[in-house]
Amino acid sequence: MPCEEYERLKSGYKSEMRQYAQFTYSENRQLLGTSDRKSKQIAKAAMERAALKSKEMMWHRATCEACQKEA
Ligand SMILES: [Zn+2]
Repeated sequence: MPCEEYERLKSGYKSEMRQYAQFTYSENRQLLGTSDRKSKQIAKAAMERAALKSKEMMWHRATCEACQKEA
């Protein structure tokens, strides 16, 4: 079992990815009623946050004893 902190990072990552998908696919975009330009900005920002979270996850796994035991 990964530790709680790792789960927290992972769920944060997942929600950023969900937002990215929401604003990336045109059928979702139409549903949300956001302009293309704005949607691209939101998707890009969400992708950047997701990339950051994924780095945090890697860094956490490299430094957390509980997570290392599990791997
Ligand atoms: Zn951990």
